[in-house]
Amino acid sequence: MSVIDELIANAGRHTAGHEHWGLPSEPRLGLAIVTCMDARFDVWRVLGLADGDAHVLRNAGGVVTADTRRSLAISQRLLDTTEIMIIHHTDCGATKITEDAFREAVYRDTGIRPDWAAEAFPKDVDGDVVQSIARIKADELIPHRDRVRGFVWEVETGRLRPVKP
Ligand SMILES: [Zn+2]
Repeated sequence: MSVIDELIANAGRHTAGHEHWGLPSEPRLGLAIVTCMDARFDVWRVLGLADGDAHVLRNAGGVVTADTRRSLAISQRLLDTTEIMIIHHTDCGATKITEDAFREAVYRDTGIRPDWAAEAFPKDVDGDVVQSIARIKADELIPHRDRVRGFVWEVETGRLRPVKP
């Protein structure tokens, strides 16, 4: 039995308390959040979000990639969100690697060079929040770019601190 089987059993029990019928697919807060996949960051609990409140886009580092911008464009154009929150965090894996070293390690292990960037931001979590905001501001396919704010969530303290663009 894998851990997935345990989760399937959890999902089976969850249907008993399911109260989401009728929730609109448009996020109630008109908000999209881009953040890291780090398992320690429970974005719903930390921000006090409920089901149906916001779109949460997660990837390694919480970086704004082409695919993130695709989801943001869809979020805003089809599902009425107008605000964007970027949240990076301390002790992130993306701060512990460099682009070149990561690519080289993958190539050594597999004989294949990734056709994507790792989007590492060694030791500069605040700088990458600024970079992420800049990428969104530069993307004309995302209609609402005036309310984009960046933050770092501190794993050590649980504090969410704003990053000045
Ligand atoms: Zn991370």
